[in-house]
Amino acid sequence: TKAPLRVAITGASGQIGYQLLFRIASGEMLGKDQPIILQCLELPQALNALKGVSMELDDCAFPLLKGIVQTDDPNRAFAGADYALLVGAKPRSKGMERGQLLEANAQIFSAQGKALNNNANRDTLRVLVVGNPANTNALIAARNAPNIDPKRFTAMTRLDHNRGLAQLADKTGCGVTDIQKFCIWGNHSATQYPDITHTTIKGSPIKNYVDDAVWVKDNFIPTVQQRGAAIINARGASSAASAASAAIDHMRDWTFGTNGQWQSMGVYSDGSYGADKGLYFSFPVICKNGNYEIVQGLQLDAFSKDRFDVTRKELLSEMDAIKHLL
Ligand code: NDP
Repeated sequence: TKAPLRVAITGASGQIGYQLLFRIASGEMLGKDQPIILQCLELPQALNALKGVSMELDDCAFPLLKGIVQTDDPNRAFAGADYALLVGAKPRSKGMERGQLLEANAQIFSAQGKALNNNANRDTLRVLVVGNPANTNALIAARNAPNIDPKRFTAMTRLDHNRGLAQLADKTGCGVTDIQKFCIWGNHSATQYPDITHTTIKGSPIKNYVDDAVWVKDNFIPTVQQRGAAIINARGASSAASAASAAIDHMRDWTFGTNGQWQSMGVYSDGSYGADKGLYFSFPVICKNGNYEIVQGLQLDAFSKDRFDVTRKELLSEMDAIKHLL
């Protein structure tokens, strides 16, 4: 039998955490034969709620769950961690400026970067930042972890990717697995660019199914970009189960590979396609042998280049707002 892997989750008793923990514990992220230890971080005022969640986890009697750590100390939460899902973040409160939100989260993620640096299992660690602003939070955490390869930090754009697939499947009447070479570029925000210019359906160019540039520009792209807000309007709360599901997809694919298929991940930019080196930028990636690689050699048309630049500039301005913490 395999030795347990340590999976750290921050904001563990929040909405997304509540959806995430049970699926990880049941083996959906790391496999049905992989024992795990959940290491949950929460704010002091949420530790009681976390205790309740932990009791429910016990009550599931998951065979793979070998332990649950409940703590408000990042050093304990990240001790020996093989995986870290950084979900907890400070939400925007009424009247808060964007810069203040970036700053408040930068404080949290710089502390967590340091704690990861000092405590995590550096040789195996995979970090996924879900808490917003996710790309910039990933940048801060990584820069505060000088002894960890920055490629081990990633930001989540898989939910955006999955939302795009769902819209395309609906439009074309095809299954989501028929759709290939779709990707999200840039920031996990309303400036993200969902790109179908390389997309194929059942191996043939998507334009054989949808040849409607107006639909793409005025319907598809804004629907994917604004999907989070649409869910808040409908549900009265932000998306949680779908965000957790995307986080599981991201970590599972990073670990086990994508069989040559594209997925979208916010990753450390090596300068590919002109995304400034060092930014955490969403690219099309292929995962293989426990690693990911940015898909190279794509041609971006003029429209794509414009959209790419908008989201790139937004990420640069976010970085500028928190540069004193880097
Ligand atoms: P959620 O679990 O709903 O969301 C957590 C974070 O995920 C938010 O920053 C949210 O951003 C982000 N997120 C990213 N993508 C999505 C998406 N597609 N849909 C929805 N959310 C997304 O928040 P809760 O308030 O329920 O829970 C947060 C928990 O974190 C609380 O229990 C709190 O105590 C804890 N916390 C822990 C910290 C720590 O461990 N140090 C620090 C801060 C908070 P957005 O809101 O912008 O959508």
